[in-house]
Amino acid sequence: MSDASQHTCLRDGCDKPAKLQCPTCVKLEIKGSFFCSQDCFRQSWSGHKAAHQVSNPKATYNPFPSYPYTGAIRPVYPLSPRRAVPADIPRPDYADASGGVSRMEQSYGNAQISVMTPKEIETMRNVCRLGREVLDIAARALKVGVTTDEIDRVVHEATIERKAYPSPLNYYEFPKSVCTSVNEVICHGIPDQRPLADGDIINIDISLYKDGFHADLNETYLIGNVDEEGRKLVEVTRECLQRAIELVKPGARYRDLGAAIESHAKANGFSVVRTYCGHGVGKMFHSAPNVPHYAKNKAAGVMRPGHVFTIEPMINVGRFNDQTWRDNWTAVTSDGKRSAQFEHAILVTETGYDVLTKRLDDSPATQR
Ligand SMILES: [Zn+2]
Ligand SMILES: [Zn+2]
Repeated sequence: MSDASQHTCLRDGCDKPAKLQCPTCVKLEIKGSFFCSQDCFRQSWSGHKAAHQVSNPKATYNPFPSYPYTGAIRPVYPLSPRRAVPADIPRPDYADASGGVSRMEQSYGNAQISVMTPKEIETMRNVCRLGREVLDIAARALKVGVTTDEIDRVVHEATIERKAYPSPLNYYEFPKSVCTSVNEVICHGIPDQRPLADGDIINIDISLYKDGFHADLNETYLIGNVDEEGRKLVEVTRECLQRAIELVKPGARYRDLGAAIESHAKANGFSVVRTYCGHGVGKMFHSAPNVPHYAKNKAAGVMRPGHVFTIEPMINVGRFNDQTWRDNWTAVTSDGKRSAQFEHAILVTETGYDVLTKRLDDSPATQR
């Protein structure tokens, strides 16, 4: 309990009793801002108003102000509180593990590529279809002014509505349910308070876990009026993925996909990210094989019917080099130029391939 008459005027050099409270501080629930008079309040204003920024729970800030950002995108904190997953939804092993470590991945991650049984393939097909539905729902929520945190909310709710767990949540302590990567962000962007701007490109990377299997897919979308170069980047990246998919069949080598991707990217003046690769997906979020997207890689493995893996090329306008923000997740281009990505989960069949995360008849266009 406190009595206003006990307060002293906040103005430097004035120690009169004070009953007048700064109205902005009252609104923001900042305690202790009392003045003896309108006069002292006015004289203190230029210094005092900074308190409103610091203490305003609605104020946003850059958590790493001294980091040498490579482009114009900044993290816009605070992140929203962690979203809850209902207790009746089965969780992957890392969901509650310290450090978000997946023990299953640590013990089997680099073992041989698993071959799914027909029954497992049917489950995987269903889970991938649900992943596609969630991606399409997220894409329909995109427009100028919407924050990436709002996209995270939409994804989280659509995922738990399907009785699935959002795979990114707590995976090696990733704090959100989806990755949203804007402009120079290559991948693993953390949804935050930044509103989408006219001319942005944004990748939405969905992964979810249900019935013991993970789905994983992503697309890059245009926000409002994107310039010619941005539109070309997005289109060429989609084509790079398509060219690689067409090579999938029993007996093909995983190492050969990168050449098809890199030659198409290079022919259009773009480069291919080397740090992040496609991967096996199924009972584990990430497992063998490793699927590089660049030419002359040394990846191991030959495709066999029943293998399921992702191809997810990240293509840059400028150089291929990447670096990571101090949040230890957000991967950006070192030159600050834009990067786009598309991802599908692909099943190797007896005769070729089946795109498990394929677009539906009503999937929203990535061009808008
Ligand atoms: Zn993904
Ligand atoms: Zn992936």
